[in-house]
Amino acid sequence: MGVLLRVLLPILALIYLFYKLFSRKSKKKADKSNAEELVKCDNCGVYFSPQNGVKENGKIYCSEECAK
Ligand SMILES: [Zn+2]
Repeated sequence: MGVLLRVLLPILALIYLFYKLFSRKSKKKADKSNAEELVKCDNCGVYFSPQNGVKENGKIYCSEECAK
């Protein structure tokens, strides 16, 4: 039993480390895709990044021209 544990524990630790690395990577990927998600302009229908948008009355527009 002791020998088995000595063999199994490093393997389990490695699997755990790989799992942690992998899940961290996939979480980063998900965060990135969320940040790059596009929204649709409420006026002209153009898709754009929310960071570049203009918020007006709870709606989001692609430019100040559309927000008028
Ligand atoms: Zn627009």
